[in-house]
Formats: sequence, C-alpha cells, structure tokens
Amino acid sequence: MLQPFLYNHHLNVIREQIDVLLYNVSHLVDADVKAAVQHTIADKLLALFPTLSKEQHAFIDEIRYLDVSEIEHFLERAQKIVIPFPELANNEIEKLFRKSKKVKLPYSYPRTITYLGWNDIQSKRKYLIYPYKGDLVGVEGSYTILNQRTTCYLCGRYGEVAHVSSRVHDHEDYHTVGHYMCVDSVLCNEYLKDTAPLEAFFEKVHNEALNA
Ligand SMILES: [Zn+2]
Repeated sequence: MLQPFLYNHHLNVIREQIDVLLYNVSHLVDADVKAAVQHTIADKLLALFPTLSKEQHAFIDEIRYLDVSEIEHFLERAQKIVIPFPELANNEIEKLFRKSKKVKLPYSYPRTITYLGWNDIQSKRKYLIYPYKGDLVGVEGSYTILNQRTTCYLCGRYGEVAHVSSRVHDHEDYHTVGHYMCVDSVLCNEYLKDTAPLEAFFEKVHNEALNA
C-alpha cells in the first residue's frame, strides 16, 4: 500500500485541479482535447514534487488515463495518503510558546492542515505552529480584525482577514512584522496551496526571535 506522502497543500492543489479536470471532461467534446487537458494537469501535479518514488509517481501519473468516475474517486484516494499534522497536547503547545502564559488550544483541530493556527479572543493574539525546517515552531502576534475583506498573505484567499503583527528583535532593534491573514486558520488551511509565504513568515519571525 502506498504510504502517505502528500501534504495538505498538495491535497488543496489536487482538489483544485480535479475540479478543473471534471469541468473540462464533462464540457469538452473532442477526445484529443480532453486527453491534452489530462496530460497538462498530470504534468502540473507531478511538478509539485521535486522527488517521487516509482510508486508515488505512478499514483499521480494515473490522472492521464482516468475516466470521469475514476477522476471523482481520485480525490478520496489522495485524501487517504496525506501526512497528518502532529497531534499536540496542551503541555507541548505551552513549550512552543515559552514566553507566553497559559497558551491553550481553543478547539480540537483537524489533522489535514499545513499549519495550526488559532486566535485568543481575550488577549487578541494569534498563535501559529508550523514544522519549520523539520521542527515544530510556534510564533505569535497580536491581531486586529479588518472591517473590510482583503487577501490573506498565507493562502491568497480573498475574505475576512486580520492584521497580524509580531514583534521581532533584529540585532539592536525591535521591530514588527505584519501581514493580513485569514481570521479563520482552519479555513486558511483549506485554501493554502503553497508553503512559501509561511516559510518566509517563519523565517523572519522565528529567526529574529531566536536572536533576541
Ligand atoms: Zn489564509
């Protein structure tokens, strides 16, 4: 059996591309054009992975030859091979936010996520946990909910966002790093298709916090 090798953001891209594929397959008449769309999407998905085993490659590559019912089923199969986000107990979470007191998760979280994020309504702080360079790292910032919709820095979704501002120590000075992020981090994770913004955010906030 194929072992989990997809991350949440891969699944989001697959979901999006499966939608495109289903739309095209049901609207296009010309068989050659349909086949061309399938090949394009297969290539696009294969390009998400710098390395793949033979079995992993074969799984993605199947997209080229699936019929409509198989395409519909493909997403379910992909969901079964997503690497789950670690299950964290409250004491483990506290360790990731040593400078803060009584950091607690307000809910049990879904495991198909790229990062774990939540808001503490009382202290107006947003907490984020992400496996940055292989280690789970926690960063936090104060947040203010915007009264107009705009684009989230992390997932690119247009919707309800908060301005999240983290204080970092950069050599001699303190300064802040601020971004608009989805108010609802669970929803954010459903739209996240690229980890580059998360990586950049953690790089900046975590590295500079380490120097503090
Ligand atoms: Zn978002």
